[in-house]
Formats: sequence, C-alpha cells, structure tokens
Amino acid sequence: MKVYISVDVEGLTGSTSWESTNLGNLEHGPVAEQMKREAMAAALGAIDAGADEVYIKDAHDSGRNMDITGFPKQCRFIRDWTMSPDSMIGGMDESFDALLFVGYHSPAGFAGNPLSHTMNRGNNYVKFNGQICSEFLMHALYAAELGVPSVFLSGDKALCGHVHSWDPNIRTVAVKEGLGCATISITPEEACEQIRTGARDGILNRAACHLKVPETLTMEISFKDHAKAHRASFYPGVKQTGPYTVEYTGHTLRDVATARMFIV
Ligand SMILES: [Zn+2]
Repeated sequence: MKVYISVDVEGLTGSTSWESTNLGNLEHGPVAEQMKREAMAAALGAIDAGADEVYIKDAHDSGRNMDITGFPKQCRFIRDWTMSPDSMIGGMDESFDALLFVGYHSPAGFAGNPLSHTMNRGNNYVKFNGQICSEFLMHALYAAELGVPSVFLSGDKALCGHVHSWDPNIRTVAVKEGLGCATISITPEEACEQIRTGARDGILNRAACHLKVPETLTMEISFKDHAKAHRASFYPGVKQTGPYTVEYTGHTLRDVATARMFIV
C-alpha cells in the first residue's frame, strides 16, 4: 500500500506567529522539529496500517523546512516544489491508496487560527461553488478526481470542523485552536500519539471516505489588492466580477488547480 502525507506548518502543534514559519528565523527551529515529529507520527501510523511506501511532502513555503533523518525506510521525501498544479501534493497520481494531511490550517475567511490563509496571504478568501475553500479542500478534491481518498487530517480545530462538513468519515486530530493572535494547543507528545492512531485508523477506514467532486466548479477569489484582480482577469476564462474579485469555472479539478496556480 502506497500513501501520501502532505505536511504544512501553520496547523502544527504550537506554531503561532508568521515569523516562526520562516526558514532562517530564530523561532523556526522548534516548529521545524515539531513538523518532523508530527510527520513521523503520521508515517508510523501509516506503516501500522500496512503501508509499505510512504511519500512525505514538505509543503510549506521553501518546501525545505523539515530534517528528514531518522524516518523508517518505507519513507520517501518530496522537498521543494514540483511547479505543477498539484502543488502541496506534488507528484500525486492514481497509484496512491490514501492521502493524509498534517499541520494544516484554517483558510482565509476563517478566524480559527492566527495564521489562517489560503495558498498565500494576498487574498481575503477563495471560494469553491460559493463556499470558503481551504488548502485541504482544493488538494483533497484534486486527489479525489484521481480516485485517491483523503482519510486523515491534523491541524487547528476550526479546520477539522470544515473537513467534516465535506466528509464526516475523514479522521481528524485538532491539535490547537486560535484565540485572537494566540493559539491554545495540546502537548506535542499528545498530538503525536493522536496523529499516529488517527492516521492508522483513517487509512484502515479509507473505503468509507468519499469526498464528492462537483461536476462544475466555480472558483471565486477576493484579493486584498485590486491590481491582483486586474492581473488575474487576463488568464483565459477568468472573469472579473468586482474591483477585488474574479471567477473561474472549470469542469475538472485539474483545470481549476491550473488556473489557481497562475492567478492566486
Ligand atoms: Zn504553510
């Protein structure tokens, strides 16, 4: 069995400030260590469930946050960026049996995490068919179109609620919640225990996970800067709907993800 684990930073246990998410910042060290611990916990859970190939994507900013030493031999690492529409699940294809998300965060438009955002900090929200879209949702739908079920996510509490609104069968672990600029988190050790068990159970339960892919998908983006909306309006098929907003309608997730890659 072959599984994919995408690991972000803003939904890890304890990460709270933007500074702490930047490679090279003094605060980044402990966050990168926790990124490794949570990725390791998910990988061990996957192996507990019978996985013999575990692909781990460092899916934050540089894509080079996490030290990759000491992982079980079943692991492979995707570092830096593939420069393709699959983005935070770069290299995803039909050969995978399950997709897991670790360290994921609330989207732009949600107050559930002081680090809420969608792909970058330049937009107020991204919506899919009128509903706020998260990085989880855009990648989970992309994988679903390839027949790969999303089975597990760890991150902030508000994001876990959003995940269950799309598929109640995906196992989630809420490691923290946002309160203004602050976060309240469980202990790193408790988080890792829950992630290992949740990842295992999510994979074992994968037949029950069915994220429905809409037949037509309209992506709406509200930019913080009106010039970005103007720029995006030149991408083929994009309509400007207001000074700050654009829309794009696609029939496949790949279409929508490709548009997203160039305009968000
Ligand atoms: Zn990130």
